[in-house]
Amino acid sequence: MANGLVFLAFLTLVVGLVGTVWVFVDAAENSSQSAVLWGLVAFFGGFLGILLYVLLGRDGGTGEDRTRSVPDRGTGKISHRCQSCGEKYYAPDSDIDTCRSCGGIRVERLN
Ligand SMILES: [Zn+2]
Repeated sequence: MANGLVFLAFLTLVVGLVGTVWVFVDAAENSSQSAVLWGLVAFFGGFLGILLYVLLGRDGGTGEDRTRSVPDRGTGKISHRCQSCGEKYYAPDSDIDTCRSCGGIRVERLN
């Protein structure tokens, strides 16, 4: 029986270490949050930490496309659109004179 326990402990340790390294590497690429933070979560949280990371941490990272298409996550409603390049804006509280994408001045207010 002792061998079984040692094997279990060894397995848990290996899975924990491999999981921590994977979370750290993966978070550096696929999470907008700190890779070090998620590595620590996985290390101390074990399976639960890794699960937490998969559910909450993997949000696609800080890619340009994400910040460009959803500049303001507050409302989700398109407030302005550039008539030159089609760039969408989510800023109902502000006036936009110049398109930040193409520099054009024909930014139409939609509401
Ligand atoms: Zn534009």
